[in-house]
Amino acid sequence: MSVFIPDEIVEEVRERADIVDLISEYVTLKKSGKNYKGLCPFHHEKTPSFTVSPEKQIFYCFGCGEGGNIFSFLMKKESMTFPEAVRYLAERYGVTIPAKNKKDGFIFSKKEEMFKINLESMRFFHYTLLKDKKGEKARQYLKNRNISIDLIKDFTLGYTPELWDALFLHLKKIGSNLSIAEELGLLIKKKDGTYYDRFRDRIIFPIRNKTGKVIGFGGRALNDEPSIPKYINSPESLIYQKGKNFYGLDKAYNNIREKDSAIVVEGYTDLIALHNIGFLNAVATLGTAITKEQVSLLKKLTSNIITLFDGDEAGIKAAQRAMEVAIEEDVIPLMVLLPAGYDPDQLIRKGEVDKLKEKLDHPVDSLTFFIEKRLKGVSDDFPLEKEKAINEAIAMVQRLKTPLKRGIYISKIAQIAN
Ligand SMILES: [Zn+2]
Repeated sequence: MSVFIPDEIVEEVRERADIVDLISEYVTLKKSGKNYKGLCPFHHEKTPSFTVSPEKQIFYCFGCGEGGNIFSFLMKKESMTFPEAVRYLAERYGVTIPAKNKKDGFIFSKKEEMFKINLESMRFFHYTLLKDKKGEKARQYLKNRNISIDLIKDFTLGYTPELWDALFLHLKKIGSNLSIAEELGLLIKKKDGTYYDRFRDRIIFPIRNKTGKVIGFGGRALNDEPSIPKYINSPESLIYQKGKNFYGLDKAYNNIREKDSAIVVEGYTDLIALHNIGFLNAVATLGTAITKEQVSLLKKLTSNIITLFDGDEAGIKAAQRAMEVAIEEDVIPLMVLLPAGYDPDQLIRKGEVDKLKEKLDHPVDSLTFFIEKRLKGVSDDFPLEKEKAINEAIAMVQRLKTPLKRGIYISKIAQIAN
């Protein structure tokens, strides 16, 4: 929707807003002469080439060439339109946009309201994690898991304190539409008509769509009490469909194309750990098994989909499910199984980065793996059992859409079964 905002408002926002203040929420900035320097949020780098000039109120990256002013930073980083960026900054820096009626065009759509409330909530969670005293135990927890401040900023991670009304009071204070916040699953309505927070005492992982807009949240409990679910996620909404998105897709999207491969992991922290060691083409399923829609999304970017799971029984099952779903889309995923008992994050924290890289260099064909697994160990002495195993293997292959592919795997079955 096109929204017109008068020039004098844009000017006032420009004057009051501070680019160093804003960008500091995304990047750790260090003073360097007249300017500030940090790791670029738009490309992966180890030495800072991203500079912010408080004097000129602009940013520029000498590594990738990305640059602009405070509005274009938000347009790129949060995938906002220009009016959305102006409105966001106006509210943040206390510039009132005069209320106008509908025909003057200040009415934002419901989707835009939803994105805005998510963004505002993300900012609140992020601030609580970085700056609030109540965030201390969350900071410790992440530190123990090797998630640095740079990573916290890069992924705009957050924390919700152990309170029933932290976000509620914040959203109320800034005048957000609370019933939309309820629809987004951030707040839950009580019988008396007031609200309480859904996410409490949790590390928050904002989930973004491929263009970078915040569409939902995942929350990991800090309390290990068995009665509390370890992970909870935003419910589906007008802007969030679980099975159609991945965690990390915004960062991975172009990298998957460039590398012509996608690594699929299960957990939020697996994804962050992989990105941290340079696997920018990784995405994570959102607490569920991979769906057909997710496979077809990746298929548009690459035909090399690699599942990377724990090598324990549950991980092998997950890999098999992923294969079965992918086959329906005529994709045969590659797979890497880690040593049993290790997910990618744990392996990386153990310092086994080289081992992981080596494994990722040699993924195996998942369909062949599961055909072999089914047929292996079935002896010729038990013909009925063998027949059953062969039939099951054939059933796997029959799901492939392309006859040529089916033919190749049928002859593989014949080979393996003699
Ligand atoms: Zn850059």
